[in-house]
Amino acid sequence: MSERVIPLVDQRIAALAATVPAEPIAATGLLSDRLGRPLRDLRISVTDRCNFRCNYCMPKEVFDKDYPYLPHAALLSFEEITRVARLFAAHGVRKIRLTGGEPLLRKNLEILIEQLAALRTVDGAPLDLTLTTNGALLARKAKALKAAGLQRVTVSLDGLDDAVFRRMNDVDFPVAEVLHGIAAAREAGLGPIKVNMVVKRGTNDQEILPMARHFRGSGIVLRFIEYMDVGATNGWRMDEVLPSAEVVQRIHAQLPLVQLEPSAPGETAERWGYAGADGRHDPALGEIGVISSVTQAFCGDCNRARLSTEGRLYLCLFANQGHDLRALLRGGASDADIASAIAQIWQGRADRYSELRGNLAPDTGSGARRVEMSYIGG
Ligand code: SAM
Ligand code: SF4
Ligand code: SF4
Repeated sequence: MSERVIPLVDQRIAALAATVPAEPIAATGLLSDRLGRPLRDLRISVTDRCNFRCNYCMPKEVFDKDYPYLPHAALLSFEEITRVARLFAAHGVRKIRLTGGEPLLRKNLEILIEQLAALRTVDGAPLDLTLTTNGALLARKAKALKAAGLQRVTVSLDGLDDAVFRRMNDVDFPVAEVLHGIAAAREAGLGPIKVNMVVKRGTNDQEILPMARHFRGSGIVLRFIEYMDVGATNGWRMDEVLPSAEVVQRIHAQLPLVQLEPSAPGETAERWGYAGADGRHDPALGEIGVISSVTQAFCGDCNRARLSTEGRLYLCLFANQGHDLRALLRGGASDADIASAIAQIWQGRADRYSELRGNLAPDTGSGARRVEMSYIGG
């Protein structure tokens, strides 16, 4: 194994203060950043812990028993999360995704889901409320999640072959239990279900076709995600990225595909439908998605904000600093003040890392370090 140096500086120490602007900024449901992108989608990380150690996300040698996970008091409480989420909804957020770490590890998560399910968009509609999970605890929790008001789930699954899957999660977790979790989610009505597969060339790319065959015609949308250079601990290398175009080619050679229209603005996945005998998309066979976060930048529509486990607002998955909303929440700021602070932060946003990636120096760990995926969620 090649040797690499993993700096153990805790990047979370660095935070930007969230300040309240002198002139209040009212929530009108339409907030634009410096590139004209609205705020529509909020991802909330509810824990920085996980029961898996996927090597592209939380490599074992870094996330070991000595890793400085956040103490419970540092985490936003459910009341704090719901309060912030309400303010985001007033600014135009329509979709909330709970993530982590592994969100199902957060105790009593159903209570938070109940609170979030009661929120409304500026048009008075319920928010699109979803969750991304590794599926390990899903069989046990699917019914309670649905009862609490969760609408659907996305399950991460990097292969069907048990040996490959156990190697990917690096805690020897069997694939059968995740499949069981997906079945339980479907039975509980947590659909439409999506399954996300991160593809790492030379590690699990042989699983692309078996996964496509398995989910074709199942009503579950399988999405392939390019292995990304998030964080600073996964030892990312471009030659381990398998471009989405190649995923599509490999599947198309065996199971013909036709390209479909995007489902919504800001949608990160390119959609491909399985073709029937007449060469046209057959909805009964379903579709796949490919997310080309590395080979094809999609920052132009990026309408997504991320709230870390300890209440820092990140404007980009590749940001190296977040804006500390918790200090306002715990410092007695009013709703109007916090809403104004959020507005000011979003209005100042110009992040477009994926579009610039090729022109930037690699993250060597020497300067401000990028935040880990397990801390702000995917
Ligand atoms: N633990 C949950 C899970 O795995 O679904 C939620 C959090 S996880 C950070 C969210 C998503 O990020 C997962 O689908 C995971 O595969 C993806 N992810 C993590 N590291 C990644 C990387 N380096 N490149 C691409 N996707 C990554
Ligand atoms: Fe855990 Fe999800 Fe990261 Fe895997 S991808 S280590 S399951 S947080
Ligand atoms: Fe959005 Fe940043 Fe990803 Fe671009 S790189 S799509 S701005 S999260």
